[in-house]
Amino acid sequence: MDRHVIIVGSGLGGLVCGYILAKNGYRITILEKNAQLGGCLQNFVRRGVKFETGMHYIGGMEEGQTLYKFFRYLSLLPNVKIRSLDKAAYDIISIAGERFSFANGKENFVESLAKHFPDERRSLQRYMQTIEDVAGQSPLCSIRPMDSIALLSPGYVRQSASEFIESITANSLLQQVLAGNLPLYAGAKGKTPLYIHALINNFYNQSAYRIVGGSDAIAQSLARSIRAMGGSVRACSQAVAICCDDSKATGVALEGGEVVSGDCFISNIHPLRTVELLPDTHLIRKSYRQRIASLQNTVSNFTVYIRFKKNAVPYLNSNLYHYREPNVWEVGDYSRSTWPSSFLYMHLCSAIDQQHAEAAILMAYMNFEEVAQWKSTRIGQRGDDYEAFKQQKAERMLEELEKQMPNTRASIEQYYTSTPLTYRDYTGTENGSMYGILRSCSELMQTTVSQRTKIPNLFQTGQNINSHGMLGVIIGAIITAGELLGINTIINQVREAQP
Ligand SMILES: Cc1cc2nc3c(=O)[nH]c(=O)nc-3n(C[C@H](O)[C@H](O)[C@H](O)COP(=O)(O)OP(=O)(O)OC[C@H]3O[C@@H](n4cnc5c(N)ncnc54)[C@H](O)[C@@H]3O)c2cc1C
Repeated sequence: MDRHVIIVGSGLGGLVCGYILAKNGYRITILEKNAQLGGCLQNFVRRGVKFETGMHYIGGMEEGQTLYKFFRYLSLLPNVKIRSLDKAAYDIISIAGERFSFANGKENFVESLAKHFPDERRSLQRYMQTIEDVAGQSPLCSIRPMDSIALLSPGYVRQSASEFIESITANSLLQQVLAGNLPLYAGAKGKTPLYIHALINNFYNQSAYRIVGGSDAIAQSLARSIRAMGGSVRACSQAVAICCDDSKATGVALEGGEVVSGDCFISNIHPLRTVELLPDTHLIRKSYRQRIASLQNTVSNFTVYIRFKKNAVPYLNSNLYHYREPNVWEVGDYSRSTWPSSFLYMHLCSAIDQQHAEAAILMAYMNFEEVAQWKSTRIGQRGDDYEAFKQQKAERMLEELEKQMPNTRASIEQYYTSTPLTYRDYTGTENGSMYGILRSCSELMQTTVSQRTKIPNLFQTGQNINSHGMLGVIIGAIITAGELLGINTIINQVREAQP
């Protein structure tokens, strides 16, 4: 077999599809617009210190757990070093001055929170049982062969995460705590389906790890493997059009004029960007374009990348989700005067035995409207007023951080920032959206984008298919590659993979 598959975008989804198909005898060409591969797996270095841009921690990485099995299949285990977060407090939820720890393992999770909510032990047990049941029901999370993809009970997909939590407990503080790491999925009240909340929390509750030295190791390892299997992974190759004849796609035109021809095409970019690449013909209906354009995207963020003075700050082996008020579901609807009413603070891990932090990330939601006045500018050329805006926002965030982590400010050597424009221009997501299209439990079909398109040899992959994040995107890539190979072929290969 020598079918040539062209993949647009080298994000996690594109690389995993490329790996699976190359392993099964397809000829692969991946086209990436940026100089660095990986999309959200990109890192950047300032004065010898490396910063993550979009993959800060992963779960399910202990032997026998879900991600461990996927990493084993993808030949990632030898090339990606990881360090466990604190098992007693991988996430710390700080709400209006009180702190609550999420501990790994079902019972530990319950006990850790029951210390604060002794009357709620039963509710916590029911909560964890449901989280586990949802993950157990998903054949792809459990890596089981299946007859069809959509197999979750209607209650898990049609109920919102917020309604589910409210049904578990009437204690309003506990409701807030259970939703406290919702920036992991940009949870929207009444919209985000229960299954997204459950799969993500189950993933991290199994085990939670930082990637030592940066998640670019994942992109590099996958690209190396694809090349070793005869594929080509090309950076600085921006797709400007997907060429089609009367019935199918025939090639990808690159900036500069080159056309790369192939038999089959996979787009790993935001569906809106994919639609923009397609010719205005009968192949893609106007109604499809309109639907994609009308979908709401998840919120973006403002990030401060902190470089610390040497040996000044002890390494924090937990992620801190802070909320000034008990309003975790409302922080996306902030006003400029109250911003930032919440933040996520994480140290980055550069060595397995790290004692002091070299770098940290301080992140808050930010809507695109705040930077819309610079939307026609390009990276590095946005002007002094943009730089002043970023500095003012960073200083506000550092003030808030100082209240929660006293003496941090004095330990900062330098900081750098990113805005929704940075994400828009690096990864091509709409308005710099963190996780792409927002799923809504009341309109699940309308807010779900299929891996198939009306063009028979053009497929989609990435965080808009299935779900976002390390696990969601790998599963989405299996669904997409399954269109060519049969999904159970891949599932069986994952099950049988050797270390
Ligand atoms: C701030 C942030 C924090 C996150 N933290 C975590 C975390 O801690 N844990 C976790 O599991 N997940 C996390 N995620 C989510 C996770 O990183 C993403 O869901 C996942 O990496 C997205 O992969 P993707 O395949 O959809 O592609 P993307 O990463 O979106 O990559 C798409 C690629 O396509 C390229 N491209 C776009 N247009 C073109 C074109 N015309 N031609 C060629 N190439 C093109 C882009 O340059 C990019 O490289 C985070 C995301 C963000 C934004």
